[in-house]
Amino acid sequence: MKFSLFHKLTNYICKDTGEKNESPKLIMVIRILILSMLFYIAINSIIYISILNNSVIAILLASFFIFLTFFILSYKQKTSSVLFMLNVGMIMWIYMNVTYFGWNTGVQHFIIVLLILDFFSGYSQYGLKITYALALCAFFIYLYFQHHNALSCIILDPPTNHLLHVTNTVVIFWCVSVIAYVFSKDSQNLESKLVEYNNQLMSQANTDSLTGLYNRRKATEYMNEMLKPSNTFCASICICDIDFFKKVNDKYGHDIGDVVLQKISQTMKTTMDGKCFIARWGGEEFLLVFPESNGDEAHFLLEGLRTKIKAIEINTGSEIFGVTMTFGLAEYDFNMDTESIIKEADEKLYIGKEHGRDRIVY
Ligand code: GH3
Ligand code: MG
Ligand code: MG
Repeated sequence: MKFSLFHKLTNYICKDTGEKNESPKLIMVIRILILSMLFYIAINSIIYISILNNSVIAILLASFFIFLTFFILSYKQKTSSVLFMLNVGMIMWIYMNVTYFGWNTGVQHFIIVLLILDFFSGYSQYGLKITYALALCAFFIYLYFQHHNALSCIILDPPTNHLLHVTNTVVIFWCVSVIAYVFSKDSQNLESKLVEYNNQLMSQANTDSLTGLYNRRKATEYMNEMLKPSNTFCASICICDIDFFKKVNDKYGHDIGDVVLQKISQTMKTTMDGKCFIARWGGEEFLLVFPESNGDEAHFLLEGLRTKIKAIEINTGSEIFGVTMTFGLAEYDFNMDTESIIKEADEKLYIGKEHGRDRIVY
């Protein structure tokens, strides 16, 4: 029951303007601010109870009815008109209060609420917003010089003054928080969406779509970073290539060729999990980087991988066949760069092909 009442109230405050090009968020914020002002004026009348004279009653009543009218109009008028009315109403409230009760109640800080609302409202060009901000600033300074040292119409006793100052501060903080919360939510959502999208783009840019392995771009970046003398003591690099892959494509078709590439990639990932960096270097060639492994250690790991790949069975539906791979392995030497170590691994791969394939040349 309580929840549904709250729900209804929220729906009522958030009710759209009906105008197509108007922001539902802005009108919601405006309504919350108007309701806050009504509540705040009601609290003011309790605080002022000891000093209620005709003029104070007139100010409070008039203000209450003016803001109530704004609230009703917010369902009938354009948002920009209601925003304008709210600004005028608040400026009048500030002016009256400073004149009647003095500078020390802190009511002049409501100008900050208007300033923030002005920038978040989405209406008008920045030129106009800045002009309005300057006008608000001038108004603040004017009030300061007019009323800071001057005696107010009504002298408040210190406890009432303190109470009023605290009330004003709380309501101003509330209003600023409402505006900031509602409008910053959008940018927060947008920002997290952008971060997510950026991560997605980044991983797409680094990944080979067929095999899910890193691509050549990422592999080059990785090696350039890793093979810095300051970063690496020992490392090994291997380039491997599927044997007679063209024949697989020619005999079974390109789609089966793709399946072979995927199965080999999967085997590499599971067999070498965490032991090396794996990328699709191009076509049916792969690059494996073993950080912190010398040639012998890498050779041992590759021997296991070669056997696993040889054991893969590809089922075409009518036939089962297998493939082999040839590996060229090079150990990193601190005076080598990415290009030279790749060249060495490539040359060794070529030697492996020359000498019958299905082997590791180190
Ligand atoms: P070798 O043992 O000397 O490496 O012989 P090979 O037939 O594997 O080498 P070759 O360079 O003659 O042929 C490689 C083939 O790989 C040719 C190309 O069509 C095929 N290929 C490259 N990328 C892909 C791909 O993404 N999918 C498929 N299905 N085939 C690919
Ligand atoms: Mg090749
Ligand atoms: Mg090949």
